[in-house]
Amino acid sequence: MTDASSQPPIVKPLEQGLYIVATPIGNLGDITLRAVDILQRCSVIACEDTRVTGKLLSHLGVSNALRRYDDHSNEAARAELIGAARDGAVALVSDAGTPLISDPGFRLVREAREAGVPITTIPGACAAIAGLTLSGLPNDRFLFGGFLPVKEKARADILHELGATRATLIFYETGPRLVKSLNAIEANLGVREISVAREITKMHEECRAGSAAELADYYAEHPPKGEIVLMVGPSSDESGVGDPDDLLREALIELSPSKAAAKVAKATGKDRQALYTRAVELKSK
Ligand code: SAM
Repeated sequence: MTDASSQPPIVKPLEQGLYIVATPIGNLGDITLRAVDILQRCSVIACEDTRVTGKLLSHLGVSNALRRYDDHSNEAARAELIGAARDGAVALVSDAGTPLISDPGFRLVREAREAGVPITTIPGACAAIAGLTLSGLPNDRFLFGGFLPVKEKARADILHELGATRATLIFYETGPRLVKSLNAIEANLGVREISVAREITKMHEECRAGSAAELADYYAEHPPKGEIVLMVGPSSDESGVGDPDDLLREALIELSPSKAAAKVAKATGKDRQALYTRAVELKSK
């Protein structure tokens, strides 16, 4: 008789379908047991960069077939993966964190859904949520804005659009662009509570809070390294009807300054002429 303990463990294949698997955003301990199980038992792992995912797999002691899939992958590559998910189990990972969240996968998941392929998500680390939990900013309502545009006008437009919502805004950011983004927040949204979470779950994790101007000064003197989540608190208006500037910005997206002023005057009871003057100022920024 063979001793069962000397046999390799029997790894049962997974049910067919597409598995969206979150991986760590720094600390390799932040992988779920379920994620390891799926990565081990799937038939193929679709990943952004085979070297990055290869390192994670070797840390986990998992060897499995890797196939490159990113935002540049074409229709044929997606069709191939969807075909593979019909016959077996395909795991989708990104370089770090939750696939699809400012990472590839949206089209693949959408097309797999349209094709009737079963889709399962294996949740785990996500820098936006981890940053929010560190920030101390209100989290009852938050809005994820991805990366801010690089061009000044597009960045200002997005800040006006998102800043008109009463929610903490969450952006992904890079070191070289942080100071510019902080200056743009100061110029376009006025005084807000800001948090900058950097290198979350890594050795040099930090979370720094202040006004946009204070943080812009600090980071101009101490150029930030590593990965960053930039968070902007909601405007600190106590009336409950919303900050007039935010309401004007929101109204100006669709209305002329005069109609925007009339709308906000009605909502807030504030002077229509003063609101009109402010609307014209905001429009010209
Ligand atoms: N899908 C990933 C997720 O779930 O968080 C995000 C991918 S996106 C391409 C990469 C950006 O996420 C970085 O530029 C940074 O803004 C943010 N990020 C990722 N890891 C981070 C970390 N450990 N600390 C702070 N920000 C991080």
